[in-house]
Amino acid sequence: MGIKVAKFGGSSLCDAEHFRKVKAIIESDPDYRYVVPSAPGKRFDADEKITDLLYQCHRQVERNQSHEETFRKIAERYTQIARELELDFDVNELMLETSDAIRRYKNPDFAASRGEYMNGVLLAKYLGWDFIDAQDVVKFDRQGIFASEWTNEIMTEALSRHERAVIPGFYGSFPNGDVHTFSRGGSDISGAIVARAAKADVYVNWTDVSGFLMADPRIVKNPRCIRELSYRELRELSYMGATVLHEDAIFPVHKAGIPTNIRNTNDPDDPGTMIVMQPSPDRHRDQIITGVAGHKNFTLLSIEKAMMNAELGFGRRVLQALEDFGVSFEHLPTGIDTMSVVIADRELVTRKDQIIQRIQQTCQPDAIELSAGIALIATVGHGMTSAPGTAARLFTALYEAGVNIRMIDQGSSELNNIVGIDVDDFETAMNAIYRAFVKD
Ligand code: ASP
Repeated sequence: MGIKVAKFGGSSLCDAEHFRKVKAIIESDPDYRYVVPSAPGKRFDADEKITDLLYQCHRQVERNQSHEETFRKIAERYTQIARELELDFDVNELMLETSDAIRRYKNPDFAASRGEYMNGVLLAKYLGWDFIDAQDVVKFDRQGIFASEWTNEIMTEALSRHERAVIPGFYGSFPNGDVHTFSRGGSDISGAIVARAAKADVYVNWTDVSGFLMADPRIVKNPRCIRELSYRELRELSYMGATVLHEDAIFPVHKAGIPTNIRNTNDPDDPGTMIVMQPSPDRHRDQIITGVAGHKNFTLLSIEKAMMNAELGFGRRVLQALEDFGVSFEHLPTGIDTMSVVIADRELVTRKDQIIQRIQQTCQPDAIELSAGIALIATVGHGMTSAPGTAARLFTALYEAGVNIRMIDQGSSELNNIVGIDVDDFETAMNAIYRAFVKD
């Protein structure tokens, strides 16, 4: 028998009907030993997320206004779930206590964490499982940085005392015991932490989509689902904006060598996406790339100087100028006498002129130019390493679509090929690349 840890997102626990689906999933496989719930999410487009309502309660308390009207909406959601599931416990008392504590503590993290806390209490009752409060087993240091090893020790010990348990996501506590949360969407991280401590065989992240798609469906029509993805490929695709999992959810499970399976609560028979340590050997027989993702809003800083390549410290001085103004860069493709730095527009807003001036002083280039309106597209896949002609295929597709390439960056890992193009060509280029590698 193996061990599985399941995390259910807010949309998977938004009402009683979804609680029933969750129970059916958990009871269909005795390997599920620990469950990490989010707070109830939206039931329909115009609905409100419990976490948003809780932050709103806190803001009202802070302004010395009454939060009762807002809290009533929250209480109604939980009460309805408890009533429809015929849970045998006093949900009203839990609501009163929580509303009162939010008013007394005046702490935004505490208020927000109650969404997961109350959902965890309800889910534990419904499944008939133990409840472990995340406040006792997930630790942050005094600065609010997640204390991974300390948490792992406490969590491992706590889990060893419970055969099956529900541990709410999203929050933990400072060394003094005060509640602190991860950033939004942080229940994904909590699930990964529990999976690591439980030495799980797999971390199953249940959400409302059947895994990662090979491209953004708002740009490419009906992209295929990615069945298998390595953690490194996931990093590359998430960097470019593919978001299904919280970025920081990768670290605990990756460290422990545990795969993550993204599944759809509303379509439990779909195998979803499996995120693995290493790609399986036969994965790329019929598919070279794993996915394509992109981002707009970059600027290209191009610097030219004769004999640049022989000038000791040139690159360092360029990067020093950026560092001095607190600007981080994304990519650094270089030529013989040219150097380009790709920088996100948001980094440059107020500091453009000063940086140029500084580079002029310290590097004395022949020419320096800033071009805004650049989009980056990353074509990602382990398969690209072993398949000759991949770059040719990519560039031919862009040429045939009439897209001019402004920059190319292929790291030596050959896991990722990034092209910089004009922002107006973004949609055309994404489709051209996708269609070049995926034949329907
Ligand atoms: N409920 C929190 C949020 O809305 C955390 C989570 O769902 O993962 O961000």
